[in-house]
Amino acid sequence: MDKWNIETKCVQSGYRPMNGEPREVPIYQSTTFKYDTSADMAKLFDLEASGYFYTRLQNPTNDLVAAKIAAMEGGTAGMLTSSGQAANFFAIFNIANAGDHIISSSSIYGGTFNLFNVTMRKMGIEFTFVSPDCTEEELEAAFRPNTKAVFGESIANPALTVIDFEKFASAAHAHGVPFIVDNTFPTPVNCRPFEFGVDIITHSTTKYMDGHGSAVGGAIVDSGRFDWMAHVDKFPGLTTPDDSYHGITYAEKFGKEGAFITKATAQLMRDFGSIQAPQNAYYLNLGLESLHVRMKQHCANAMALAQFLKESPKAEFMNYPSLPGDKYYDVAMKYMPNGSCGVVSFGVRGGRAAAEEFMKKLRIFAIETHVADARSCCLHPASSTHRQLTDEELEACGVAGNLVRMSCGLENTEDLIADVANALG
Ligand SMILES: *Cc1c(COP(=O)(O)O)cnc(C)c1O
Repeated sequence: MDKWNIETKCVQSGYRPMNGEPREVPIYQSTTFKYDTSADMAKLFDLEASGYFYTRLQNPTNDLVAAKIAAMEGGTAGMLTSSGQAANFFAIFNIANAGDHIISSSSIYGGTFNLFNVTMRKMGIEFTFVSPDCTEEELEAAFRPNTKAVFGESIANPALTVIDFEKFASAAHAHGVPFIVDNTFPTPVNCRPFEFGVDIITHSTTKYMDGHGSAVGGAIVDSGRFDWMAHVDKFPGLTTPDDSYHGITYAEKFGKEGAFITKATAQLMRDFGSIQAPQNAYYLNLGLESLHVRMKQHCANAMALAQFLKESPKAEFMNYPSLPGDKYYDVAMKYMPNGSCGVVSFGVRGGRAAAEEFMKKLRIFAIETHVADARSCCLHPASSTHRQLTDEELEACGVAGNLVRMSCGLENTEDLIADVANALG
């Protein structure tokens, strides 16, 4: 199964029905699971046997779909969460406690920035934000003795910066901590960060993976390569006994391949219950089956729009990492040579008001707090998703006041360009 190409994994990985079983992933619409003896169930509670007992922690539909995403990323274990926010929260909180410190790229999704900078700070976890373009020295200077992870987005939403995986991974590993990457925008169809030293991947499956605006969801995948036991003191949650699970030491019992996801499921899902509804996991799987086909068209439409905007006097600046001349072109070609994503951002000449005027005139691109959908949509971050940020924070996220984020859907290319050309006037 590991040898399959990504297109085959999109369609075939995860659920492999046995003789006479349903062809399509079954939806286990059940909160609970039945056992013959209490002893059978006790084994599950001791993590001595794998199985299901309550859907707040785990559900078979979710696990089949998570296994597909893990296969697509080339990881050893995966889990679904109720949202991308939950995935990023779990990925960090699984290894960082109050008093710990995380280094994050400053160019990340506004919701994640707020989660880190406001909510997780309240929980006692400190964050240092560094530019994705920082020098090795600047990155080095951000580490503290209590740093537990480095975080970034492969392609940042909405700034479309591309992170240099190898630079961040080697700094993280030199300090004995994992590099966690949110790979929502390129998806594993276009970019597989584990091939470049990343240790843990998160996703908002709400975006391209679902692709139809049907179901909010998230995923976490472990590469299975980070050696927690080599850093016993740094990650006590994984390397010392968990009293809430009868003294199990995750990294010993489940190894590098399984410890991270098992702990996140057994502890964080148990306590927070941010589970994805099995029905949503089913929708997600339908989306995954066509992801490789859809990404090509999203990228082709975005490339055409980027080329159009580059020539347009109405566009003050334009970001699309796959277009030659973009600031991130070289790094994009290194890590995602076959394409990046379907999102293009640009600054409307004339400032914030001109941006709002342009958006009103669009007929195909709809104004939505969404990206990565079959239907083209657009957003003005400064007046919506990034509203809560100060001007300085906006600048650090790479979001200008006149920036419009255009998410190219699966429509006809010429129709999309005509829509934009007409609205720019
Ligand atoms: C949307 C998004 C999130 C948050 O995901 P939700 O599913 O909306 O919770 C996280 N990271 C990135 C890059 C996103 O685009």
